[in-house]
Amino acid sequence: MIQLIRGFKDILPAEVALWQHIERTAVALFAAFGFDEIRVPIMEKTELFARGIGEDTDIVEKEMYTLEDRGGERLTLRPEATASIVRAYIQHKLYADDPLRKLYTIGPMFRRERPQKGRYRQFYQIDVEAFGMAGPYIDAQMIHMLHLFFQRLGVSRSLAHLNSLGCPVCRPRFREALSGLLAQVEEKLCADCRRRQARNPLRVLDCKVPTCREAVADAPAIVDYLCDDCRQHFNSVTESLARLGVPFELNKRLVRGLDYYTRTTFEIQTDLLGAQSAVAGGGRYDGLVETLGGPATPAIGFAVGFDRLVEILGQRLKVEAPKPALFIAALGEKARREAFYWCAALAAAGIYVEMEHGDKSLKAQMKRADRLGAARVLIVGEAELASGKANLRDMATKAQSEIALDGVAEKLEQTLKP
Ligand SMILES: [Zn+2]
Ligand SMILES: [Zn+2]
Repeated sequence: MIQLIRGFKDILPAEVALWQHIERTAVALFAAFGFDEIRVPIMEKTELFARGIGEDTDIVEKEMYTLEDRGGERLTLRPEATASIVRAYIQHKLYADDPLRKLYTIGPMFRRERPQKGRYRQFYQIDVEAFGMAGPYIDAQMIHMLHLFFQRLGVSRSLAHLNSLGCPVCRPRFREALSGLLAQVEEKLCADCRRRQARNPLRVLDCKVPTCREAVADAPAIVDYLCDDCRQHFNSVTESLARLGVPFELNKRLVRGLDYYTRTTFEIQTDLLGAQSAVAGGGRYDGLVETLGGPATPAIGFAVGFDRLVEILGQRLKVEAPKPALFIAALGEKARREAFYWCAALAAAGIYVEMEHGDKSLKAQMKRADRLGAARVLIVGEAELASGKANLRDMATKAQSEIALDGVAEKLEQTLKP
């Protein structure tokens, strides 16, 4: 039998209720904050990600699913959504009517990472982006919205880690100070860090290798190097978060290696899966729209790791799949035929009804009704059809009531309407 690809997974019906619950929670909340959904393709020209994510990132260097199609074009399954949304923003001139656009998308992303527990090569993200707002309030709003999102899902122990990456005015001073320190500890750094240190010293700060972490433990904090504008921006963000009641702490290790990332950068961490780990991350990227060929446009975004969220919530939150309002236990071919049309009428009226399609005993049908969690059972056989009356049983109370079969679908619709 043909198995699915290693690192990929099926989301089975039993799990889907939780996925839908998370999606509904996100959609309702984002709408209240004025975000519109956008759907972008899962495949783009490789060049978009090389430029949009950066040539010397792990994603672009090692993890992309890239292929050459029959026309010889190099295409890549999207490893994240931001580059595609920025492309769409530029390509469709979404800035023309109003440069302020707040967008989100939910869907699969692809990275060829080493398969390990809880990590998939097709994984899902909730991705949110806001364009055209340079001021600090949109930063605070997005972190606040993320906080509310996790609260509504019952992830109460979440904490926002915050840092500022400065701007082209103040970051070079920090880079210089950091490079000075790195030159002193160079022999303690891993091979990746040594290679990247000259071009991209900031990335050494978020290297996960323990010796690297130790080597940069006393590294300067970028927030001590911010220019006045960046400092004011960052202070406004933290003040707003405090007033909104969003728990946060400063984290000087939180950095991004690419030049177009600016100012506020953040992660939402939780300890619900044991060790502290990030379930969402994002930040300001004021330079990206221009880098990808659009007009200079400030922007900020974040992505939530959907699979990790499911993993956390799966242990804590029981989301029930819908249960039938009615099960029709039909005995004999004639009763089954009638039941089929009653089911059709009730489903058309928006009521979930199940019936047995095979020739099963009443006992077997009652068992199935019970397993499905049906609220009521209507029992119809030859005798009921002859007398024109049948019993409607409430499965919780076991109470039975008689119902006339003439116009029964309409009557049931009245009784069962939620
Ligand atoms: Zn600055
Ligand atoms: Zn390292």
